[in-house]
Amino acid sequence: MKRACKDCKILVDAGACPLCKNSNFGTNWNGRITVINAEKSAIAKKLTISKNGDFAIKVR
Ligand SMILES: [Zn+2]
Repeated sequence: MKRACKDCKILVDAGACPLCKNSNFGTNWNGRITVINAEKSAIAKKLTISKNGDFAIKVR
């Protein structure tokens, strides 16, 4: 199961977060969004996502 960075909400398989380089992950996340154009995506802005990738909507 993928883990979600608690800071960036990006979903990763293993290792550190590719965005913030931390390993502050939560496995209890729900919702999933694939951002392919973060600069133009209104949803990405709302979730304060500035990079492309797979993100969780909520992370606990
Ligand atoms: Zn992160």
